[in-house]
Amino acid sequence: MKKIIILLGCIMLIITGFCLLHMKAKKNVPKDGYHLSDKIIVIDPGHGGRDRGATGEVLGTIEKDLNLKVAQNLKKEIENRTNSKVILTRENDTSLLSETNQKEELRARVKVARNYNADLYISIHHDAFEDTNVKGITTHYGANKKHDKKLAEIVQKSIFNQKITTRNRGIQGSDFYVLKENSSPAILIELGFTSNEDDEKRMNSAKFQAKTQQRIVDGIIEYFN
Ligand SMILES: [Zn+2]
Repeated sequence: MKKIIILLGCIMLIITGFCLLHMKAKKNVPKDGYHLSDKIIVIDPGHGGRDRGATGEVLGTIEKDLNLKVAQNLKKEIENRTNSKVILTRENDTSLLSETNQKEELRARVKVARNYNADLYISIHHDAFEDTNVKGITTHYGANKKHDKKLAEIVQKSIFNQKITTRNRGIQGSDFYVLKENSSPAILIELGFTSNEDDEKRMNSAKFQAKTQQRIVDGIIEYFN
């Protein structure tokens, strides 16, 4: 009888060991050795629905569509490399509210971060300007939120940690509603100018998109570590 109990005990121990090993193997181990677990990240693809955002001069890029594509790719990249949860403020070509009141719409987007008690909020946009020579990438943070400056710095630096020929416009403390009124650390990235031919071509290239999403996630991971 005693032998049977010992044998059963051994079997139980072996099973427990296997279960533990399996659980450990299932956890995503980030490839670059950084660890980012259990954070809640809200990604906001700018514009949507009737609000198209900027329109490209040469290729006719529609900003709201490109913003959504970049945001969806970022979500995948974060989920592949970390154990964090990602929420998009919109999943389709829609606005959050049916009314076209811009202030209310932006308020609704900020509310998503508050409702989820997000650790981070990233708004994705593409810029436009009347002078078609103006180009480059800018990361904005709320001018009233000094703590978010570091976050903006890390992400902007990380984006340019690749071979990239557009201008580094640096970081900027801005008055954007989604940044200023956000209870979570928040940045807004403008990934190029739709009004500049080179930028427009670059922002639409799969290579630039893949590299840039990698670098943004590198930056996020660095920020949390
Ligand atoms: Zn925009």
